[in-house]
Amino acid sequence: MDINLISDTVTRPTPKMLEAMMQAKVGDDVFKMDPTVNELQEKAAKMFGMEDALFFPSGTMANQTAIKLHTQPGDKLICDKYAHVYNYEGGGAAFNSGVTCKLIDGNRGMFTAAQLQEAISGRSDIHVPYSRLVCIENTTNKGGGACWDFSELEKIQKIAKENNLEFHLDGARLFNALVAKNETPKQYGELFDTISICLSKGLGAPIGSILLGSKEHISKALRIRKLLGGAMRQVGFLAAAAVYALDHHIERLADDHLKAQEIGAILKSVSYVTKIEPIETNIIIFYVDKKIGADNFINKMKTKNILLTPMGEGRIRIVTHLDYTNTMHKILLKELKDF
Ligand SMILES: *Cc1c(COP(=O)(O)O)cnc(C)c1O
Repeated sequence: MDINLISDTVTRPTPKMLEAMMQAKVGDDVFKMDPTVNELQEKAAKMFGMEDALFFPSGTMANQTAIKLHTQPGDKLICDKYAHVYNYEGGGAAFNSGVTCKLIDGNRGMFTAAQLQEAISGRSDIHVPYSRLVCIENTTNKGGGACWDFSELEKIQKIAKENNLEFHLDGARLFNALVAKNETPKQYGELFDTISICLSKGLGAPIGSILLGSKEHISKALRIRKLLGGAMRQVGFLAAAAVYALDHHIERLADDHLKAQEIGAILKSVSYVTKIEPIETNIIIFYVDKKIGADNFINKMKTKNILLTPMGEGRIRIVTHLDYTNTMHKILLKELKDF
């Protein structure tokens, strides 16, 4: 069997999650008549202390909806140069919303309040697009699972509000940050106008994301989700997996983080690894000696049924997750040591 570490999206529903899906009460969610979807949305909104929530088929659609509801064509959104909304959503910000992205040159996907201040200062005449939205990503994906410092987020929020900017959190892996930093969903609910979270990453559901926000934002989101083709019918079968994930798969993220630390310790001890990014959650990014080469290393590991991802510029990524068992972990540690 493969030891698949390309992403935390490769998990399959556990027997108990499948059982919860099979038992789900469903209805037509386009008419808001799916009780399980309603339950999920209420549960998530309550968790974050936000007014409302909406279930989406993907994180990309949830983020793209948020961008659309906060902006007009010609506006500018501000994000880190590593941001998923800029790099990995197929150019959706431009295609769906007609906005440009102002990229901040941050550190592992995170920027400072001072950098935001600088990004929005300067000329403000008719030549310059309106700044409308600031997007944060926590944990950062391309930044290797890094977690923001909450006090910096508070400073950034203050600057955003002083300048009439909306504040969106791409929280695809927010629960990893909450577990790693011992923070609460409500802290984030208070800070952001909208938040997207993924159930299909570390939390192990097969599909699904949620967008959180005010009643007004979510009623706009409902229309946008429809026009993007994301209004679904008896989707309670999937919402049931999401409810199960929120109930049972949050605390266990600490296991993924511990395994990531143990992998990091081995990588630090072997001579062929030239650099490892700091490991804060379940993502490990490292570089191997140029004489070996990232692609070659990945191919060699593949012959041992260990799947890793190249991240460009010689970077290799490992992501730990729910389906990465203790047995697999022992095998991986040995293979990394013996390589
Ligand atoms: C995975 C991910 C998303 C959304 O991805 P989908 O595959 O569309 O669900 C958004 N932001 C970040 C940071 C992600 O890692």
